[in-house]
Amino acid sequence: DTQDIKILLLENVNQSGKDILKGQGYQVEALKSSLPEDELIEKIRDVHVIGIRSKTRLTERVLREAKHLIVVGCFCIGTNQVDLEYAAKEGIAVFNSPFANSRSVAELVIGEIIVLARQLGDRSNELHSGTWNKVSAKCWEIRGKTLGIIGYGHIGSQLSVLAEAMGMTVIYYDVVNHMALGSAKQVPTLEALLNGSDFVTLHVPELPETKNMIGAPQFEQMKTGSYLINASRGTVVDIPALINASRNGKIAGAALDVYPNEPGGNGDYFTSNLNAWAEDLRSLKNIILSPHIGGSTEEAQRSIGVEVGNALVRYVNSGVTLGAVNLPEVSLRSLTLDEPNHARVIYIHHNVPGVLKQVNKVLSDHNVDKQTTDSKGDVAYLMADISDVQPGEIKDIADRLEVLPSRILTRFLY
Ligand code: NAD
Repeated sequence: DTQDIKILLLENVNQSGKDILKGQGYQVEALKSSLPEDELIEKIRDVHVIGIRSKTRLTERVLREAKHLIVVGCFCIGTNQVDLEYAAKEGIAVFNSPFANSRSVAELVIGEIIVLARQLGDRSNELHSGTWNKVSAKCWEIRGKTLGIIGYGHIGSQLSVLAEAMGMTVIYYDVVNHMALGSAKQVPTLEALLNGSDFVTLHVPELPETKNMIGAPQFEQMKTGSYLINASRGTVVDIPALINASRNGKIAGAALDVYPNEPGGNGDYFTSNLNAWAEDLRSLKNIILSPHIGGSTEEAQRSIGVEVGNALVRYVNSGVTLGAVNLPEVSLRSLTLDEPNHARVIYIHHNVPGVLKQVNKVLSDHNVDKQTTDSKGDVAYLMADISDVQPGEIKDIADRLEVLPSRILTRFLY
């Protein structure tokens, strides 16, 4: 019964997410902050679902105590605060919100392109300190300029559409062949992108291959007087090389939203205690520095709540794993639980030979309407809708599945 589902939400999850979960009749307890590990362990023992944001660490030690937990909802983008591998081994699905804030980031970048082209940050700072400094030299319209997008994923492709609408020409570089939107063109190499762009913007994930992807040799390949924008991850740009390129006039400006080391909270200082070059960076001309706010809008927070809230409801009520980050993505057409004598069997198991044969032997006395299975690494997920099953027989099926050596977790929806 949905009323039996216990949910713990931490870190002030957005109201939109709470409303969706409460609307299902689940028992929802929502706290404003994260919890110290020991308190978390106490609380997590009882719940079926936990919703967190980036500060709650779900380590193996915590998850080991979570005896009833079937799913984690990360109401944010990142999932590295959760031990995903351990969760998968225990059959605990983890969901996040991969692109609810893409539009917010793309809009910020559009704003930054104009602000850089017009040296607006510097003019504003000057006038804030009382100095009138009217300048048109080296200030530009963005119409007709070329935007080079590195990484044409959720954010990069959204940005492509917005930039063209403002009259820019768009080229992009990606390790994957993506369909070009509008009149954008994919270029074959990073060098071709850097050679051809007036503005270069980064939208790649943090990976070993993207670490210092823009360093001294890449600044060399950029047009003199071009601009660099990084709202992806702090490790992607070699900042000392950027400081050099700015000082020697190779680039005319830059915008950074992300840094290799970011302060823990608001009000903390951004100094060389955190990043050796912090003061040098702060002293540069035409550099926009923002505190990792690319995705920080009311709209993004709301849509994260909706997206993750819906994923949790779908998983709890129907076992569908679409969008799970640590389990295979499995779906079955509509669940016919309203009809009598129907049940959905979910069998999460080790991905070893012979499992289907054993499971189907258990199910074979009934009519299997639909069945699907998929695996991801060592874990496999099987979902079957059976009809012609009496409520009393479900316990028998459950008992027989429970003792199979491949079993990780079994659920019945009926
Ligand atoms: P995405 O996964 O949708 O797209 C990333 C793209 O980069 C993919 O097309 C991928 O093929 C490409 N790529 C991967 N490695 C590459 C390489 N070595 N060279 C070229 N292309 C490569 O990701 P997204 O949702 O568009 O997010 C992009 C980045 O923005 C991520 O780093 C994400 O963490 C960051 N982000 C920042 C904020 C913020 O607040 N500033 C908010 C959201 C996302």
